[in-house]
Amino acid sequence: MNSTARCYFDHSATTPVDPRVIGAMEPFLHDGFGNPSSMYQEGVEAHQALEEAREKAAALFGARPGEVVFTASGTEADNLALRGAIPTPVTEPTHLITAAFEHPAILEVCRYLEKHGVSITFLSVGNDGFVDPQELRRAMRPNTKLVSIMAANNVVGTIQPVAELASVAHEHGALFHTDAVQAAGKLPIDIGRDGIDLLSFSAHKIHGPKGVGALIVRHGLELQPLILGGGQERGIRSGTENVAGIVGLGRAAEIARAEMAQDSVRLVSLRDQLIDGIEERIPNAYVIGHRFRRLPGHICLGISGLEGETVKLLLALNQAGIAVSTGSACSSHHAGEPSHVLLAMGFDAFRARGSVRITLGRFTTSAQVDYLLEVLPLAVRDLQPIASCAGRS
Ligand code: PLP
Repeated sequence: MNSTARCYFDHSATTPVDPRVIGAMEPFLHDGFGNPSSMYQEGVEAHQALEEAREKAAALFGARPGEVVFTASGTEADNLALRGAIPTPVTEPTHLITAAFEHPAILEVCRYLEKHGVSITFLSVGNDGFVDPQELRRAMRPNTKLVSIMAANNVVGTIQPVAELASVAHEHGALFHTDAVQAAGKLPIDIGRDGIDLLSFSAHKIHGPKGVGALIVRHGLELQPLILGGGQERGIRSGTENVAGIVGLGRAAEIARAEMAQDSVRLVSLRDQLIDGIEERIPNAYVIGHRFRRLPGHICLGISGLEGETVKLLLALNQAGIAVSTGSACSSHHAGEPSHVLLAMGFDAFRARGSVRITLGRFTTSAQVDYLLEVLPLAVRDLQPIASCAGRS
């Protein structure tokens, strides 16, 4: 596998692991193999490493170390948040509010809960990519137990007004969960200041390893575990901990916290350079979602006339050594289907099929952006005649 010469523009799908993270993990794949539950030296050392990682993960969100529960993914953290806060079968009428553009890790759990007697409201999303706190206020009911709205959307990159949404939830006595898998490490989040009761995140989106995530659970909140066993993670998530992965998550969180401000300035500048360049060179391209209230390195593009051709565009760019995605990484399982995110934002099914997501990361260079600006207009131009013929047949 030789990826060194490639230009990777899909950091919302996953990120390259930072060499400093690999350095921190390595000892725990060699001599530091102990089980953190063991009482002898190997176990004590592994346990210490776990607790240091917990402190670093907590610090990224202004949380206490005791509020961090390690999981095997962002998906698991989302499942634990919703199913842990609303155990089924419910014994009384229970209502949950989420938004129609959430990740499947939330939407599928909501559908599961709905089948088990929970009423769910799926809020619609404005065509600029935001959930409206007033719409949330109107949807609240006396039995609303939980509101779950993502901090930033994975397809369009828009940043949600989390503190306002949390305050509406709390005014009505509900808990507030946010899926911060895309926002973590990119935006300053403080669970105390923002009023967040539960927060999910994932290491592989912040230059850490895959297969490790965490749920931040505000002190005093009781959750029903999904996985029962030896009682690790204060009994909320049993199973021998993935020590090397968790150490990697901790180091990735520490680096993200230290470098967030400078990375963000650099990424916003590269992103805007890319948007300006695309608008100049590809007149039929347009940015989907609000132009500025979006993640620092995130662009979601529509290209009028090429809606049915985005997979061909992706493959042409791939041939030229460039990785971008159409919609979300999960869309490879649903190729050709309209994006539920764009449908939620009011796009029709045709336009909702045709978005291209370009996401930058810590190691993206200005030279890579220039290369993309050189290749993308040519790839679009080459596809254009095919698209217009296809449209006429
Ligand atoms: N939530 C959001 C918003 C995501 O973008 C993703 C992954 O793309 C997930 C949850 C799932 O995280 P993981 O890949 O760690 O399961």
